[in-house]
Amino acid sequence: MTKKKSKAICAQCGKPMGADKTHRPFCSARCKQLDLGRWLGESYRIETEEPADPETLDQLMAGGTVAPFPGRRGE
Ligand SMILES: [Zn+2]
Repeated sequence: MTKKKSKAICAQCGKPMGADKTHRPFCSARCKQLDLGRWLGESYRIETEEPADPETLDQLMAGGTVAPFPGRRGE
């Protein structure tokens, strides 16, 4: 038998959470905001760092029209 207590730790600072579980999985509203801000920042960066589709660039350079959905997903 294992006597393992599920230790809840803050997902932001890694500190064990107190009795207050209002901000789970974070220990406080501050950690919640910090993590959310970091998460949003990372996702934004990933989107902007994504290289443009070379084929789309080619079409733009050639002055052609760029289809909004290159991969036709049925009509
Ligand atoms: Zn925390």
